[in-house]
Amino acid sequence: MSRHAVIVGAGVTGLSTAYHLARKSYGEITVIEKGRVGDGASSRAAGIITGLLWSETGVRARKISLTRFRELSDELDGYEFQDVGCLNLFDAASWPERERLLPLYDRLGVEYEIMDREEMAAAWPDLVLAGEPVGLFDPLGGYSEPDHYLPALAEGCRALGVRIREGCMITDFITDSGRMAGVVAAGERIEADAVVSTVHVWTLKVLESIGLQLPLKSFVHQRYVTAPLPSPVRIPAVNANPYGGYLRPAYGQRLLAGIENPSAPEFHVPDRSFEMSAIAPPPGLDAAARDDLLPLVPKAAGADLADRTARTTRTGWEIEKAGLLSFSRDGEPVLGPVNRFPGLYVGVAFHSGGFAYNPAAGVLLAGCVADGRPEIDIEDFSPNRFDPDETDAYNRTMITHGEYSMPGHSRRH
Ligand SMILES: Cc1cc2nc3c(=O)[nH]c(=O)nc-3n(C[C@H](O)[C@H](O)[C@H](O)COP(=O)(O)OP(=O)(O)OC[C@H]3O[C@@H](n4cnc5c(N)ncnc54)[C@H](O)[C@@H]3O)c2cc1C
Repeated sequence: MSRHAVIVGAGVTGLSTAYHLARKSYGEITVIEKGRVGDGASSRAAGIITGLLWSETGVRARKISLTRFRELSDELDGYEFQDVGCLNLFDAASWPERERLLPLYDRLGVEYEIMDREEMAAAWPDLVLAGEPVGLFDPLGGYSEPDHYLPALAEGCRALGVRIREGCMITDFITDSGRMAGVVAAGERIEADAVVSTVHVWTLKVLESIGLQLPLKSFVHQRYVTAPLPSPVRIPAVNANPYGGYLRPAYGQRLLAGIENPSAPEFHVPDRSFEMSAIAPPPGLDAAARDDLLPLVPKAAGADLADRTARTTRTGWEIEKAGLLSFSRDGEPVLGPVNRFPGLYVGVAFHSGGFAYNPAAGVLLAGCVADGRPEIDIEDFSPNRFDPDETDAYNRTMITHGEYSMPGHSRRH
């Protein structure tokens, strides 16, 4: 008899899991989405990826993502990975902590180049950096346009026989002798051999009905896009940590900028039916993105954004998008089988890098579900690594984004 996997959530994590399961000829695969494909954080992402993370498992997983993003460019119609590299910037205070990770990159065979300001100015004349930042360039990094990637991945799933049910909310799980046996969606019981929960910031609300909790915090995050600029901006994706955000070129000769907001309070999703479109960017951050980040690309700062007709914000951005990021207590993703309920798997808490993780998340979850083992050791991402009492206490504390610390590292995407 054919096996059936139900994947809850049609963001990039759920779709990628479905796609990679289908490539393994798993059997019947159904993705269940309460809204439309991409309704959550995925359509709001900046889509930047670097392979230069801070943990061995993270680096190994990102190697899978970087390989798969390139392959997916060939496999999916209408999607192309933007192979511009990713420049990770550090100041004198944050560099030593990152420098300590270079032996890890060397051991895992991850390419990088350390650059000073002059070298960066020579490589990218459009990028003008104040101060003396250190550049850690990832030649394999880059970005994807979520608006192109999401429909292409959904179509790729359908072409492999995956059923995507939109407008259908999971309200409960079915268990049988302690095993996960399916879901209840829109009043209908759907039986399954495996259930994969990829519901991002809805995780606590969705898993509530089976008494499963994970130590997670969510914060609002925002990014902006200019109207088309008079000439193309030739820069890599830039994680501009010392300047408070990030930048990348965007489709149609635009520039995208995302800005940090350390004072953002923790956000509690009120109930299962919450929609991410309810999140608005806090006032003033559009101006901060313009004033703090656009000067790094004088070509964009110099363009008279305010005179352009197609614009949304008063500060001249054409597009603004806000959504939620989700972090685990130790800063690592939570991905893999749940011991308490054999047959249940989760993929959540990808910090600000869930778009970058998605090809790997899909490959790894598909490996867990179809073969009983993922492609690499993901013990450090295990959902079973948290103590329930500590989880409870952690989830009761309220902190700001600035107070949240991922043990020891300044990190992004
Ligand atoms: C402004 C912004 C910029 C970002 N930039 C980057 C970046 O540059 N690089 C990067 O790697 N990451 C970035 N991220 C993070 C990235 O967007 C997320 O980590 C990623 O999209 C998470 O994908 P997901 O599929 O896990 O979750 P989502 O896309 O949120 O998908 C979860 C889905 O589950 C559905 N769902 C929830 N509950 C139910 C239910 N009960 N029944 C059925 N369906 C349900 C939701 O409707 C939703 O569609 C950014 C995020 C934001 C907000």
